[in-house]
Amino acid sequence: MKEFDLIKKFFRPLAKSRNSLNLTDDVAILNCIESKTIVVSKDMMAQDVHFRLSDGGFKIASKLLLSNLSDLAASGATPLHYMLGFSKFPSCDQKFLRDFSKGLAHIQQNYNITLIGGDTINSATAVFSITIFGEVDSKYRMFRGGACVDDLIFVSGTIGDAGIGLECKEGLIGKVRNKNFFLSKHFFPEPRILLGTALSKKSLSTCAIDISDGLFSDLSHICTASNLKAEIFLDQIPISPQAKLFLKQNPSRDLPELISAGEDYELLFTAKEVDLPNIMGLEKSINTKISCIGRLNKFSGGDRIVLHKAKDLYRQKTGIIKIKKFGYEH
Ligand code: ADP
Ligand code: MG
Repeated sequence: MKEFDLIKKFFRPLAKSRNSLNLTDDVAILNCIESKTIVVSKDMMAQDVHFRLSDGGFKIASKLLLSNLSDLAASGATPLHYMLGFSKFPSCDQKFLRDFSKGLAHIQQNYNITLIGGDTINSATAVFSITIFGEVDSKYRMFRGGACVDDLIFVSGTIGDAGIGLECKEGLIGKVRNKNFFLSKHFFPEPRILLGTALSKKSLSTCAIDISDGLFSDLSHICTASNLKAEIFLDQIPISPQAKLFLKQNPSRDLPELISAGEDYELLFTAKEVDLPNIMGLEKSINTKISCIGRLNKFSGGDRIVLHKAKDLYRQKTGIIKIKKFGYEH
């Protein structure tokens, strides 16, 4: 199939907004509104590094777009459009293309975004990339360096499920109960767009990051960028009932290691203590689990993150756990 036919058949149906110029021009266009800032993010994924061709086009495309959306969530932006870099690898057939475009179609409908352009090349292995555009009120953008001393640290959803999903997919572990739950968390992360936009619009948070490398690793990015130190409590980190059962059935595995597996795509954010009731109110209004896992303090050297076994501030010290692995290393 010629490049132009491929674009026309599989990608043009995804390019429904006028910004795409129907994929017939050299460029796409973005509308700029005063008082809004356009935020942009790019993700790349390579065969056998980020996905297997055997995952199929639907799952590969879905995860690529979902993880991209998650970056926008962390800035508090509303997603608008995306551009696609597509490599036609040797075994790329019509079925792969159909599944790939179906995956994109499904996600773009859920998040009300459209494809506005891209580039298509031939290559020996599959590499895909997406550049995504969103908009945020200029005054309320969240960023990694936006945290303050005494801010509380929050996380959405549950942590560690996607990591178990990856191990299931790669056949690294034996029989696992709730395997489909873990696999679905691995293939279809849920970008926290509603949470990100609610936090920024209500001015409840100035600092967020999405958890892609691992909770400790991404928290340390916040600490470094904001020049602060985090005190967090292992027993406050939200773990799904399925992951708890997994740990019970696999006693050789430990919780901190599970937490640092990455690819949770949950939102890690900070907020003032006075806003605690408002933050927890969001749990209901946007139907998203939110947990407070610790607090930020002044940094005066030493470790950026102190991991306490349990939240027990006013009684004896419950003990500190040395973090062995922070997250996925690139
Ligand atoms: P050029 O030769 O100027 O790079 P192309 O022939 O590559 O342009 O692309 C033609 C049109 O098709 C452009 O509007 C481009 O954005 C769009 N396009 C090409 N590849 C893709 C893709 N993978 N996804 C979406 N749009 C694409
Ligand atoms: Mg081109």
